[in-house]
Amino acid sequence: MATFPLTRSDALERLAAFAPRAGSAYGTRRNLVSACGQHDNVSRLSAALRRRVISEEDVVRAVLARHRPEAAEKFIAEVFWRTYWKGWLEQRPAVWTQYLADLDRLQAQPGLAAATDQAMAGRTGIPAFDHWAQELAQTGYLHNWARMQVASIWVFTLGLPWQLGASWTFERLIDADPASNTLSWRWVAGLHTPGKTYLASADRIAAMTGGKLTAHGLATTANVADVPAHPAPMPPRDAAAPDRAAPSVVLITPEDCSLETTLDLADVRGVAFALAQGAWDRTALADAAARAGQHWGCEPVAIENAAGLAALASRHDARQVVTGFAPVGPVATALGDWRADLAAQGLRLVESQRAWDHRAWPHCRKGFFQLRARMADLLPEPC
Ligand SMILES: Cc1cc2nc3c(=O)[nH]c(=O)nc-3n(C[C@H](O)[C@H](O)[C@H](O)COP(=O)(O)OP(=O)(O)OC[C@H]3O[C@@H](n4cnc5c(N)ncnc54)[C@H](O)[C@@H]3O)c2cc1C
Repeated sequence: MATFPLTRSDALERLAAFAPRAGSAYGTRRNLVSACGQHDNVSRLSAALRRRVISEEDVVRAVLARHRPEAAEKFIAEVFWRTYWKGWLEQRPAVWTQYLADLDRLQAQPGLAAATDQAMAGRTGIPAFDHWAQELAQTGYLHNWARMQVASIWVFTLGLPWQLGASWTFERLIDADPASNTLSWRWVAGLHTPGKTYLASADRIAAMTGGKLTAHGLATTANVADVPAHPAPMPPRDAAAPDRAAPSVVLITPEDCSLETTLDLADVRGVAFALAQGAWDRTALADAAARAGQHWGCEPVAIENAAGLAALASRHDARQVVTGFAPVGPVATALGDWRADLAAQGLRLVESQRAWDHRAWPHCRKGFFQLRARMADLLPEPC
């Protein structure tokens, strides 16, 4: 079975091992799906990238050190898909809040429970879907191409609401990400690109899995009900720069687990970590906090709430708490509440935005093509 690195040393080791295969080999083999869970054709770095245990920049730099940009274009474009979804949702946060409201409504509908439970348990009678549902339950991972088939079968063959499917994978994926997950489900369901849906086909499933997985009775047309217009894009949320000289506490959350590689602060007096959403987050946070603690010479402290953070800051006479930028999702929502509580105690909560996001997000207002056209300008220098 494949493994999915959650610590920086494991992620860097995986990156070093995968980088030689990120060129033309990735381009030709990335959609071939192993039915035995090996997934050697893809990097399996998403659990680390999602938490920025390693950054997009780390990954792209390492790949460009091994390949010409044209040879690694396919792999690099996939990394930019992560950036695209983040930037797009950041400029349309209402899509996330609407999804959460839809979920509340749909989860209260008793008529849907039996069918969704059967699908999530892998008991639909469609062998490929059931295999992938069980693989997700056992490993927390699905190959991208399998995710597309699963989402398509859920929506168009089983006729279930995409929001319930997105909630299912969000709860179970080791790389669960509000932007990539929600927006990919919407893309499959025909809600992202007008007139474009993704329809799974039994022949392609057999071909991509080397005949190991089959599917029958799949929908042959993609029926899409009313497609509401996207909310107009708003400017990405402002990220104020931290005051480099101010006495600070660094807060690590699952949104950025390698702050010591980007933050330039002269007076760090404490390191805190908080807001893990589950066991995988806890593993990544423990590793990140240990690295940050070593870097800034502080014993990392687990924090439960804003009051705990304010108490730590007060013990160290800190004037600001600096954390990684939290894009739309549960951590951003929690930090929004914490910011008000900390302000009441005279403390600034500053979210430090990575240059990668700052440069790329303005190009994520329309379709992916808009960002793709700028990819060459956004690439870092090879290391
Ligand atoms: C329905 C559905 C739900 C998804 N949910 C998530 C999710 O919750 N979290 C998540 O990280 N990804 C999600 N994805 C995107 C993609 O499936 C995973 O990022 C990818 O499978 C991770 O495996 P990998 O690291 O081996 O990818 P590789 O093929 O090695 O790609 C390298 C990196 O590029 C990025 N990437 C690759 N494909 C995509 C993509 N289609 N969209 C965005 N980024 C991509 C990832 O950061 C990945 O680690 C979803 C896709 C679909 C179709």
